[in-house]
This record gives sequence, structure tokens and C-alpha cells, in this order.
Amino acid sequence: SEVATMMNVPVTQIISSCMMLGMMVTMNQRLDAETLVIVAEEFNYKVEFVGAEVEESIEEVEDKPEDLETRAPIITVMGHVDHGKTSLLDYIRKANVIEGESGGITQHIGAYSVNVGDQKIAFLDTPGHEAFTAMRARGAQVTDLVIIVAAADDDVMPQTKEAISHAQAAGVPIIFAINKIDKPNANPDNVKTQLSQMNLLIEEWGGNIQSQDISAKTGQGVDELLEKVLLEAEILELKANPNKNAVGTVVEAQLDKGRGYVTTILVQAGSLRVGDYILAGKHSGKVKAMFNDKGKKLKIAGPSTPVSILGLDGAPQAGDKFNVFEDEREAKQIASKRSQLQREQSVRTQKTLTLDEIGRRIALGDFKELNIILKGDVDGSVEALTDSFQKLSTEEIQVNILHKGVGAITESDVLLATASDAIIVGFNVRPQGNARAVADREEVDIRTYSIIYAAINDLKDAMEGMLSPEM
Ligand code: GDP
Repeated sequence: SEVATMMNVPVTQIISSCMMLGMMVTMNQRLDAETLVIVAEEFNYKVEFVGAEVEESIEEVEDKPEDLETRAPIITVMGHVDHGKTSLLDYIRKANVIEGESGGITQHIGAYSVNVGDQKIAFLDTPGHEAFTAMRARGAQVTDLVIIVAAADDDVMPQTKEAISHAQAAGVPIIFAINKIDKPNANPDNVKTQLSQMNLLIEEWGGNIQSQDISAKTGQGVDELLEKVLLEAEILELKANPNKNAVGTVVEAQLDKGRGYVTTILVQAGSLRVGDYILAGKHSGKVKAMFNDKGKKLKIAGPSTPVSILGLDGAPQAGDKFNVFEDEREAKQIASKRSQLQREQSVRTQKTLTLDEIGRRIALGDFKELNIILKGDVDGSVEALTDSFQKLSTEEIQVNILHKGVGAITESDVLLATASDAIIVGFNVRPQGNARAVADREEVDIRTYSIIYAAINDLKDAMEGMLSPEM
């Protein structure tokens, strides 16, 4: 079926030409090289085999410590729906425009940068943990810090918990913004208590997690929140070398009728200049023009700067890395090889782990951590399973519950599993909506159980390296 798509012919024709060669094949079957050549010839195509070595030509040179300079932190805002993520992003954006820049029409390019005193902070303008984890699943770790917005007039909600798990799984520090404190029924202490019950102790209460009461509506506390962001960033000692060719990540891309492909990228190191040839995912091109989020033309963009650029020959995907090339031809070559390789690789590489694979690797002795996402129908069973799973940890293998929650298995759970090499265990719950399809595509192992000891036994067997494959 892949070959059929590549040559744009019906799959039945491929099957019948294989039959003529004496091979009975199904549409999911992989063809060997020789067969591929013969079949393709019949449709007037020539097969070229491309090795995986193309990727190696983009090696990154390590920076010398003296070349590194402090860079602005890059922030993602997460939290439960309606708790005020968008309002907070909008408020920060409006309140932190410097004089002289405010004349420009703000462009929603998927990321923006604000000035706080003489420092800068960059925000990714796609709030929510799904976008965050989707990028991570593509191998892009862009965010330095996560702000989790939790409304003070509500409880710590399922998506708040998800956001916490997603940030923790990524190893990104969290700052809580307890929002809507302007409301008469606001009760920030309730939120803080519930967080502390999840072992998340904020500084005010003797812990080490930053938190700030805010109102995204009136702006109360927002400056203090940004101060805390800068403080946390200082601790992280974020640095990059601005004096080299730019590297970074694609934030979003779209086709604009008048201007062609407009791609928002975040420069993470080096500096990008108008005129540079870049390669982003499967697309390449010369940077014809570059704009910041205020629509201002830029000639050069340094580390932690979000910019939208014109000149790519297509729309790369969010999370794709970009690199600068001295030689346009080389960039083009790699781009086209990547397109060819993509289908091949998406079939060949086992991106995620299944429980069977874990068992095998544990038996071989090269496995240290077993990451689990646990969803159940009621709190009681989730807690019981968490306890039992954690007790299975041995000196050799640590069992980590990356995320647990009550409710169906969602697409966001699957993304988290992909990004963190985890398996998903469902107790009396099933995948919902798109979750199953995404799990199949990403080859995430979802195990569902209705008997607690069956779940525990399976995991135990896997850890002892003797699980029989699931039928
Ligand atoms: P999101 O879904 O997390 O992006 O939430 P929104 O930013 O869309 O906010 C949801 C609703 O809460 C909107 O009606 C906002 O006007 C309101 N809201 C957000 N922040 C505040 C706040 O600090 N105070 C009050 N009173 N309302 C707020």
C-alpha cells in the first residue's frame, strides 16, 4: 500500500503485479528490494535506495563555555480548561509591550516575547499540555518553565493534574499561578491545600515550588508572577551561544495566500539572519524575510527569539527542528531525502515500548525504569494499583507512575506515553475518541484490565522478563 501511494496507483494493481511474479501479498506486507525494483519498473518508476546516513551530516558542534551567553526563558502555560490560560497570555502580552512597539499590530504567530524590566521572556502561545507533549513526542524540548494556571474558585481539576504530570515527565520546573483571585468566591488556600495533598508544596508553605496568586482579569499579581519566572530562570542558568548558525524548533506553519509559507520558529541557539538557507523538517528555503510577533521586520534573531519567516518551500510540522546550511543544495538534498525516508521510517522504527519489549529488555538486563500511565474508573482502584505497581520496584528496575487519573484513556495520555516511553494501563476504562488510533499509529501499548491482580501479575511477569505476548 505504501508503494502504491508513492506511485499514485491503486493498491490492487501492485498486488496483481506481485501475483504475476508469483508472490501472494497483502497490502500491509513489506516487499524486498528486488521485488520493489521490478514492480516499480512496471509503472515506469525507478527505485532509489536511500540510507539513513543523511541525517548524520547535521552534527552539532559543542559550544565552548566562554561562548555561552544568558538567554531568555521560554515558557508554556498549561492548566484546566477555563481556568484562564488564554486570559493570562493575553494580559501579559498587552501589558508588556514597550513604548514605540505598541503602534504595530500584534501578529498571532504562535509565540511571543515580552520585556520585563531589561529582561525578556518568550511565551509559546499554544496553551495546554497537548501541544507541549506533542512537540516533545517529536523530540523537541523547547520549554524551560511551565506556568500552571489553577482557578482559585475551583478545585484542582483533572487537566490541572494532567498538566502537572506532563511537566514533571518532561523534567520542566513548574510555577503555579492561582488565578481569578478577584472573584468574591476565590479560595486560593483550597487550591494550595489540594496541591499539598499531591505532594506539591509551594514556597509559601515551606516547599520549593513557586506560586503566585493572580488575576488575569485585573492584572493583580502578574508582575510578581513574571518576577518569579525570571528568578526561576536564573537558577536554571539558561545559556546559548549567539555567534553561530541558528538552530531551533518550528512552532507553527501555514500557507498565506499572498506571502507563501509563513513559518514561526523559535531560535534556540545561534542567530538566524535574513538570507540564511534553512532546513526545517522536510522543507527548505532561503529566509526571504523575518518578522517578530509585533509584525516588525528583523534582519537577525538571536537565542530565545520567536520569529515568523518567509521563504520555505512548504509547511514543516510543529516540533520539527531547523538548521542553517551554508550550501543551498545540501539543504535541498536532505529535505528531499527526508521526505522519501519518512514513510519508510514511520513503518520501520519502533518508537515506543510495549510491555513485551520491556520484558525482553529486562531479561537482557538493559532496562532500568518502567514508566506507567494509569487510568481507572474510580479513585480507589487507581490508588490501589499505584501502590501495588510501585511496590514491584526492585533494585534493578524502578516503576514510575508518570500520570494517574480517573477517566477514560485520552489522546493526551497516549502523547505523554509516546514522549516518555511509557505504557498505559487502564482499569475498567477504555481508550476514548482518537486515543486508540493515535496509540496504534505511535505504537503505544495500552493494556486494559478489570481484575486488579491480573494487572499486577502481568506487570510482575514483564518485570521478571517472562511475559507471554498478548494475543
Ligand atoms: P482557558 O480555557 O484556560 O484559556 O481560559 P480563558 O482564559 O478562556 O478564561 C475562561 C473564562 O474565565 C473567561 O470567561 C475569562 O474571562 C475568565 N477569567 C480568566 N481569568 C480570570 C480572572 O482572573 N478573573 C475573572 N473574574 N475571570 C477570569
